[in-house]
Amino acid sequence: MIKLHDLHFKPFISEDEIQATVQHMVTAIADDLQDEVPVFVGILNGSFMFVSDFVKKYPKPCEVTFIKLASYEGLKSTDDIQRLVGLTQDLTGRTVVILEDIIDSGKTLAEVHRIFKNENVKELKIATLFYKPEAYKKDFKLHYVGMEIPNKFIVGYGLDYDGLGRDLPAIYQLKTTQHMTNFVLFGPPGAGKGTQAEFLKEKYSLVHISTGDVFRFNIKNETALGMLAKSYMDKGELVPDQVTIDMLNAEVEKNADAKGFIFDGFPRTNAQAEALDKLMDQKDSQINAMIALEVDDEVLVQRLLERGKTSGRADDADENIIRNRIKEYYKKTAILKDYYSAQDKYYGVDGVGSIEDITERLSAVIDSL
Ligand code: AMP
Repeated sequence: MIKLHDLHFKPFISEDEIQATVQHMVTAIADDLQDEVPVFVGILNGSFMFVSDFVKKYPKPCEVTFIKLASYEGLKSTDDIQRLVGLTQDLTGRTVVILEDIIDSGKTLAEVHRIFKNENVKELKIATLFYKPEAYKKDFKLHYVGMEIPNKFIVGYGLDYDGLGRDLPAIYQLKTTQHMTNFVLFGPPGAGKGTQAEFLKEKYSLVHISTGDVFRFNIKNETALGMLAKSYMDKGELVPDQVTIDMLNAEVEKNADAKGFIFDGFPRTNAQAEALDKLMDQKDSQINAMIALEVDDEVLVQRLLERGKTSGRADDADENIIRNRIKEYYKKTAILKDYYSAQDKYYGVDGVGSIEDITERLSAVIDSL
């Protein structure tokens, strides 16, 4: 993720992918032009990096020149194209290939055609590294297109946002949602996730989603989802992934304006973790951390039996079911430690002590994110 002026941008097209695309275009154009010595005309400022890489890869003699046009102001393409530096040499009878970094509305291209109308070139071909088909409003033929991209604002590889970003060797895309803080509160049943989440959601203005609570709410209201979940929950087993993932997606969608989420009891399997990453990605966001409360098994059993005296939860009342839930946790869920460790996002926190002490330990991790 990068920040330019006031906006955040996320990686979109890698350096390697760009270079492969440039090579592809070079090969196609060199094949078509055979022994013709073309004049490549770059459109400044945006195309300088593309033109430089392109001609370095071009296998035969060629000439290079530039014209300088300006159309962008901030994030919007303006109607008014300014010709800042026009053609400075006679191109009569020459084969000209325009090298554009990006074609979106096509206004710049219209200006290019105006410039070349009376130049008597032998042939005028248009080559663009990026092309936004959804934004293109003109009929000019595009002879060579490197890559079609969606109609999103991008920076890097010559393209800028108010002057910044041209120097980046890869392409980044504007993030459309504000910055969010999302973390997974992790730990075995009885570790205190629910209790801690209540404090943390207030402190950091986050939305707390506990999949167990949502299931229990559905069971209480005798919904179809509740009836389905109940058969698994009563035995201390996990509800099937697809049911849980669909439910979680719906809960996140209900809170479209959230500043971030505390996920409690989710994900519990690799499939759920992958689904969560995908969901966050769609929101232009990500999971920042998995914060795990670490508590010894016997302490958990005692805590849950104690809670069962007042919680009314069937799965807290029976020691065998409690032990089965803890077993399920280590069998299916603890592998998620590896999933988040691999992304450098795992934080273990000692879950034994007073509620306040544990909140403080968790806050220290969140503040460091
Ligand atoms: P909890 O309140 O987190 O201890 O969850 C209670 C029960 O709800 C679990 O034992 C599961 O049966 C079910 N459950 C909660 N979250 C999930 C999940 N992410 N995947 C599958 N089952 C879940």
